Amino acid sequence: MLVSVVIPVLNEAEAVPLLLSRLHSILHGLSWEIVFVDDGSTDATSFLLEQAALEDPRVKLLRFSRNFGHQAAVTAGLDFANGDAVIVMDADLQDPPELLPQMLNLFAQGFDVVSPQRISREGESRFKRWSAAIFYRLLSSMSSQKLTPDVGDFRLYSRRAVRAIRSLREQHRYMRGMVAWLGLREAVIPFARCSRAAGQTKYPLMKMLRFAWTGISSFSAFPLRISVGAGCVLSFAGFTYLLRVLYLALFTTTLVPGWASVVAMQCAFSGVILLALGGIGDYLAKTYEEAKGRPLYVVTEACNVELPATSLSRAVILAEPWPSVSVDSANADVPQLGARHESAYSAK
Ligand code: UDP
Ligand code: MG
Repeated sequence: MLVSVVIPVLNEAEAVPLLLSRLHSILHGLSWEIVFVDDGSTDATSFLLEQAALEDPRVKLLRFSRNFGHQAAVTAGLDFANGDAVIVMDADLQDPPELLPQMLNLFAQGFDVVSPQRISREGESRFKRWSAAIFYRLLSSMSSQKLTPDVGDFRLYSRRAVRAIRSLREQHRYMRGMVAWLGLREAVIPFARCSRAAGQTKYPLMKMLRFAWTGISSFSAFPLRISVGAGCVLSFAGFTYLLRVLYLALFTTTLVPGWASVVAMQCAFSGVILLALGGIGDYLAKTYEEAKGRPLYVVTEACNVELPATSLSRAVILAEPWPSVSVDSANADVPQLGARHESAYSAK
């Protein structure tokens, strides 16, 4: 079994030697490859990675022409990884390589995705910890897929999970949402996230906020549809108030001339305008979802059906061609189908 480790790297010259030595000792005895994706580094990172690749053919290197961003680098790594299990991790050793055996163990039990979940975050500011906690929960409540909270891009993917992710080619990428969208069987391992081994974060506040917005706008059309709700409430309130204004205008003499008509128009139109905006937002949301051209479904198991020889348009078929023996029926110890977010260990 080949294990691939995919590592996006941007200016991590101080961390790379340490990372390589820790990975070498953990991967010892396994058949492995490491796919580094150099996302436009401008320090000695490119040189160090090139040296490592020249010394060992199992160290692979892709270099981008410029900085395309962390998510693009992860995508390229997944596109070129050949492993039966593919692990994506950061270069700064915040994702401990020592967790790999545990992850591989769960992969061997038949899970398609193994997600280490951060139960603590060393070396991160209180603001980052709070904002991350709020963000994961907010996105989960807005999106129709349930995202596993406090899981970053440190993950193990089975080969078929990688195949499925490769078929999602949208421009604005949010890998954590894509994994949730695919809905494959996921195991969660709690772990304590350490601080960076060296260097500075490559996600300053503005970049982090942009990334958070990509997550929300790629996996929820809720913001586009907000004005429908607001429009309903305002229309109701506006028309109720309009009745009062009409009463005052027709049956009392307390009103300044002209006031009633201005207020009446204001009440009637503001709600209607918001409703119309909401309607447009809804159409826009649907156009947006179509424009992403995502597959319509993902098939993981198939029994007694003949699978098409050629790939279907906008469909991901991960099931093995008939006849097939599923991992679950071959191994009685394996957790049963249906439970997707099974926690393999207690999260407490
Ligand atoms: N990274 C990248 N391109 C970017 C930003 C980050 O390849 O534009 C890499 C970076 O070198 C690291 C990983 O992505 O290996 C995660 O970045 P970082 O550790 O800075 O993020 P944080 O852990 O602070 O959220
Ligand atoms: Mg980091």
